[in-house]
Amino acid sequence: MRSATSSRRSNISLESPLLLARGDVNSVLPDDIVYTTVEPCGKRTPGGQGEYMGDCTTNLIDAGVRYVVYAAPDPDASAQTRYKFEQAGSSLRQVNDPHIIRQAITLFNSTVTSSSDALPQ
Ligand SMILES: [Zn+2]
Repeated sequence: MRSATSSRRSNISLESPLLLARGDVNSVLPDDIVYTTVEPCGKRTPGGQGEYMGDCTTNLIDAGVRYVVYAAPDPDASAQTRYKFEQAGSSLRQVNDPHIIRQAITLFNSTVTSSSDALPQ
């Protein structure tokens, strides 16, 4: 699941389609953990392509997700994302294996078409 962030990557997130595809957000159990390649986005760009979907952090919290583990940090997402998870009393943690983090960044960057969308290495 892509969870990017601010503005420029706001149309790439996958949490919303994932939750919508399940058709039943109430099926998230209290102890469920969402594992995501990239840190979830905490805001959307007004007028951007993904604006109508809302940010992934809010969608995850609203769906009842209380535990999220991500690999690649998204510098554009971190402040808003962390604030929202803290306010909701939810847990947001990054894996601590540098190899997995590098792999996640490489994987994500292989999907972008513009270098301005790429995560920093
Ligand atoms: Zn997102």
